[in-house]
Amino acid sequence: MTTNPLGNRDLIRAINRSTVLTIIKNHGPIARAEIARQTGLSPATVSAISAELILQNLVVEKETGDSKSGRPPILLVINPHGGFVIGIKLTETQAIAAMTDLEAVVIAKQIEPILDHAPASVVKSLTNLIARLISESGIFKKQLLGVGLGMAGIIDARRGLLRESPIYHWHDVPLREMLQKQLKTLVYIDNDVNTLTQAEKWFGSGQVANNFITVTIGRGVGMGIVVNGQFYRGAGGGAGELGHTVVDPDGPMCECGKRGCLETFVGDLGLLNQAAEAWKRGDISAEAHTPEELVALANAGDMGAIEIFRKAGEILGRSVANLANVLNPERIIISGEGTRAGLWLFNPMFESVRQYTLATLINDLEIKIDPWGDDAWARGAATLVLSELFESPVYRGMSKAGG
Ligand SMILES: [Zn+2]
Repeated sequence: MTTNPLGNRDLIRAINRSTVLTIIKNHGPIARAEIARQTGLSPATVSAISAELILQNLVVEKETGDSKSGRPPILLVINPHGGFVIGIKLTETQAIAAMTDLEAVVIAKQIEPILDHAPASVVKSLTNLIARLISESGIFKKQLLGVGLGMAGIIDARRGLLRESPIYHWHDVPLREMLQKQLKTLVYIDNDVNTLTQAEKWFGSGQVANNFITVTIGRGVGMGIVVNGQFYRGAGGGAGELGHTVVDPDGPMCECGKRGCLETFVGDLGLLNQAAEAWKRGDISAEAHTPEELVALANAGDMGAIEIFRKAGEILGRSVANLANVLNPERIIISGEGTRAGLWLFNPMFESVRQYTLATLINDLEIKIDPWGDDAWARGAATLVLSELFESPVYRGMSKAGG
């Protein structure tokens, strides 16, 4: 059971408010009477909530041109500039921040190098970054509704706690609290794959699917899970560590301390280690120091490079098939920098998915390759804040507290 931090009356009011706001976001411009019809709320309740949303500048009235019966109907729409949010993607070397309006349109962007990985130094860098972004965008600080931050690792989003970060080597860092103290605005943190999945759910291919999975490949291999339209995060926020499912117990050493994790075959470092070994054996025509160089070799017809991607694709496909067999999703979206390998990776992956997914389940499944850039990761983090604004507190409690 999730305990309810609000009283019952306040909770009902908050649910009704988010219901009305979401209907306006998804179906606006829309008349008050139509909102009442779609939600089953009384016209008086819809009027009261609308008045409150208009007062907060989140919603505006819009007159329509057609007025067959005299008075033109007044419709409600979201005011995209009624507030602004900031999304940050924190990587090993830099923080990329984007400010968006309420429709997640990016209006300003800034990047800050992260040189020192101590939590207090990172918080200081992020505070500077946000101050620069606010001054560049020209908005007033009070128009900022919140900051969303996505990074790799096991994150307890409900408690705002970074439980484990493989790249920063942090353990139980209360990052949300530290940032909120400095920024004096609401802060939400989540695993970066979850923030990207959130963006898929709102703006991308997740809009049409209720059960979908985002698999990201690149520096690591991550996964975001949406079941019945809601995030699945697990008991402590750690669900989705697909990269550390073991593919071969005798395989290469992984950063997590185990051997043969999926990441060691498909992640950037894994691919480069295999390229280095192929170079020693004389199986590849040149050294590859970056994933881009390895892709260039494959594109130039180097059989050693092509073989590395073929093997990675085959292994990735088996993991995707396992996901399809366990969760029967409508859609699996493959995303992240690793998609740069293109068909060298995906042709063998598709073949492997076909081979290992149960015949009945494969008919339900659509696989989509969605190469998102850094902006999308930051925009995804911004939707963390937007979802707090729009989503019903009931679902919020369920998705964050895990049941
Ligand atoms: Zn591992």
